Amino acid sequence: MLTVKNLLRTWPYDRRGNKPQPDAPALGDAAHRLAVFEDIERGHSGWFWATDAAGCLTYISPAACERFGLAAETLIGEPFTSLFETDPENPGERSARPLQFLLGAHARIADVTVRLVPDRCAPGTQPAWWALSGQPKIDVAKPGSDGAFHGYRGSARDITTEYQRRIEDSRLAEFDSLTGLANRHRITRRFDQLLAAFKGTMRPATLMMLDLDRFKHVNDTLGHPAGDELLRQVAQRLTRVVGTAGEIGRLGGDEFQILLADQEDRGKLGELADKIIGLVSQPYTIDDDHVVIGVSIGMAIAPFDGTEREDIVRAADLALYAAKHGGRGQFRFYSSDLKDEKEERRLLEEALRDAIASVDGPDGQPDADSWEEPQLGMVYQPVVRTDDHTVVGFEALMRWEHPQRGAISPDVFIPVAEDTGMILQLGAWALRRAAHDAVCWPHPLRIAVNVSAVQFASPEFPGIVADVLAETGLDPDRLELELTESVFMGDGETTDTAFKSLKQLGVRLALDDFGTGYSSLSYLRAAPFDKLKVDRSFVDSCTLSDQNSAKIIAAIIGLADALGMETTVEGVEAFDQRDVVCAKGARLIQGFLYSPPLAQAVLLERMAAGALRIPPEGPQRHRPERRSVYRRIGVIHEDHRYEALLRNLSATGARIEGLVGVPVGTSLVLDLGAGQLAVVTVSRSEDATIGVEFETPLVSDGAGGLVTRYRASPYALATAARMVSTSAPQFLEVEVRKRA
Ligand code: C2E
Ligand code: CA
Ligand code: CA
Repeated sequence: MLTVKNLLRTWPYDRRGNKPQPDAPALGDAAHRLAVFEDIERGHSGWFWATDAAGCLTYISPAACERFGLAAETLIGEPFTSLFETDPENPGERSARPLQFLLGAHARIADVTVRLVPDRCAPGTQPAWWALSGQPKIDVAKPGSDGAFHGYRGSARDITTEYQRRIEDSRLAEFDSLTGLANRHRITRRFDQLLAAFKGTMRPATLMMLDLDRFKHVNDTLGHPAGDELLRQVAQRLTRVVGTAGEIGRLGGDEFQILLADQEDRGKLGELADKIIGLVSQPYTIDDDHVVIGVSIGMAIAPFDGTEREDIVRAADLALYAAKHGGRGQFRFYSSDLKDEKEERRLLEEALRDAIASVDGPDGQPDADSWEEPQLGMVYQPVVRTDDHTVVGFEALMRWEHPQRGAISPDVFIPVAEDTGMILQLGAWALRRAAHDAVCWPHPLRIAVNVSAVQFASPEFPGIVADVLAETGLDPDRLELELTESVFMGDGETTDTAFKSLKQLGVRLALDDFGTGYSSLSYLRAAPFDKLKVDRSFVDSCTLSDQNSAKIIAAIIGLADALGMETTVEGVEAFDQRDVVCAKGARLIQGFLYSPPLAQAVLLERMAAGALRIPPEGPQRHRPERRSVYRRIGVIHEDHRYEALLRNLSATGARIEGLVGVPVGTSLVLDLGAGQLAVVTVSRSEDATIGVEFETPLVSDGAGGLVTRYRASPYALATAARMVSTSAPQFLEVEVRKRA
C-alpha cells in the first residue's frame, strides 16, 4: 500500500534534496512530520506528488486521486504530464507546456497553473485548475559529480475558483459585458498592436466605424432593457457577417468598430459594409415588438489615410459623419475632402433655417412683410396613365434655391431637416402649399405629398392634415400622402392611431420607394395603403439582362393587384424601360420620359391649354449613368507625367481632355489623386480628347462617387516621387478651359 508513511520510509533524501546525515532528525521527528503531512492531505488544503527520473508518478495524495476518480495505484507509474493539458481558455498562455519544459530541464517548479485533462477526471466533474510546485531531487552525495537526477517531489493546490475569477476579471476588462464583443480598451490595444506590427511590413489595416441609426428612438420608446436586447442582437448579426475576418468591438452606446487586418480592397470593403448594412437593417423582434433600425459606416485604411491610430480614428469618424448625413444606411470611405463636411453641415442647417423663415410667416403663410425672395418652392411631376398618356395626378416635390449656392437637392436638405426637427415646420408648409396650389387647378387631379417618417410620428400630424383640408377645401380623396416604410419603426400605437385618423379624414395613402427597405409584407396587411410606388432603382436596372429587377417589378405589381392597390412606377427615362415596365403590368408611370417636375405657373398654362395628355419623349435606350466631372488629374506614360482634365467618369471608362496625339491602344496610368492609380487603355483619340477603359473597374465610394479598389501606399508614392523623368514627352499637352 502506498502511503506517505511508506514513501517517507523509502525516500532517501531530505527537503533540500540531501541524503540525511547520520545525525539527522530522529524517528520521533519523522513521525511528527508524517502526522503534519497527513493532516494537510486530509484537510484537502494541498496535496503531494512525486515522480521518478523518467517523470512517472511515484506518489500522489489519495485526496488528489479522488479528483481523477482513480485509485492511487492506477495513477502510479503514469507520466505526470499526461494528467494536465494546455488551457483551452488561454491557449499558449498558461499551458502544460511550461510544466513539461520545466520537468525536462529538471528545474524548480513554482506555482505553475495547469488544467486537469477532463477525460481523465471523474465523470461529471467541473473543469479544474491546479497550481503545481516542486523540487527536483538531485543526488549530490558524490562530491564533484553532476549529481544523479531522481525525479521530483512537490505539492499541488486546487485554484479553480480563483483562476476562474481571474479569467472573468480580465474578460471584463477587455470585453463588453452586454454583447461579449471587445470593449474600447481592447479594440484600442489591438489596433495599436496591429499598426505597430504592420508599419514595418507595410501591410494595410482597415478601421470600420459603425453607428446605429434610430437606436435612440428605440431606447426612448421601448425602454432601456429593449435597447440592451437590441444591441445584443446587433452584436450577433455583426459577428455573423464579419466572422473571423475581423475583430468587432462595442465602444459604448450604439457605437461599434471593426478592425480588419490585411484588407485594403475598397471593392471588397464596400461589399462587406453593404452586407452589414443589409443585415443590421432587417427587422428585430424584441418582446413581441417589431423594431427596425439602420446603420451608417465610415471606413479609413492604414497606411493610406494615416499611419497612427489617432489619424485613422479621426479619418473613420469623418467618413462616418459623412455617411450619416449623406442619407443614412450608407457607408463612406474617408477622403481628404471630408474634412470640411462638418462645417459644411452646420452652414447648411443655418441656411435651411433662413430658407424656412423666408417662406413661413407667423400665420403659416409666406411672410408678406419679408423683403427676401422665398427660397423654397414646390414643383409638380405628372403621373401618367400608360395606355393613353393621360395625366392622372401630380407628385409635389420641394425645391430649394439658395441665393448664393443655387439649387440644393431635397436628398441633401430633407435629412438635415429631419435630424434637426425642422421637418415638422417644413413638411407642414409643403403640405399647405401643395394643397393651396392643387385647388387652383382647373381639373380636380390628384396631388401626392411626401411625408417624412419624423412628421408621421408626430401626434399633431393628422390634425395638421385636417386643418389643411378644411382651410383649402381640397377634396380629401384628391390628397395622397406618400409614406416610406420607415414610418413603421415608430412605436406601434402612435402609428396605428395616425393611420386610423388619416383614413377617417378620407385621404389616400401610398407606400413610397417600395422594395428598397425591408418590405415586410405584414405591413401591407396592417396598414391601409391605396398605392405602392415601385422604386426607381428597379427601373434603372430593368433593361440590363442579368438583373432580376424586371421580375421584381412584375412581382410588386402582381402583389399590389392581388391586394387591390394601385401602383406607380417611378423614374422611367427611356422607351426601352417603358416597354419593360409596361410588359410587367405597369399602368401608371412617373418619370422624365413623360415630364420632369413642373412649376405651378407652367402647369397652369398647360392645363389652360387643355393639355392633359403628355406624349412620351426621350432616348430610345437607357444608358447607365456617366458622371460629368471636371477634375485635374495626372496621366503617366512611360516615365513622363502629364496634366489633364477628367471630364467624364464611369466604373469602366473615362473621358480625358488635354492630350493630343495619343494613339488608340496606348497603355496609360491615371493618377486620380490620393494614391489612386489606375491602369487604362486608350480606346478613342480625337484632337485633345481621349477615351480610356479601366483595366480594373472602379468601385463605389458609398456616396455615388467612384474610387479605385486599391491605392498606392504612401511608401510607394514617396519612392515614385524621387524618380525624375529624363526623356522628352511623347504627347502634346494643351490647356483646356471649362466650357460654359
Ligand atoms: P421621391 O419621393 O422618391 O421622389 C421622386 C424623385 O425622383 C424626385 O427627386 C424626382 O424629381 C425624381 N425623378 C422623377 N422621375 C425621374 C426620372 O425619370 N429619372 C430620375 N433620375 N429621377 C426622377 P427629387 O425632387 O430630387 O426628390 C428627392 C427625394 O427628396 C424624394 O424622393 C423625397 O424622398 C424627398 N422629397 C422631395 N420633396 C419632399 C417633400 O416635400 N417632403 C419630404 N418629406 N420629402 C421630399
Ligand atoms: Ca415620393
Ligand atoms: Ca420614390
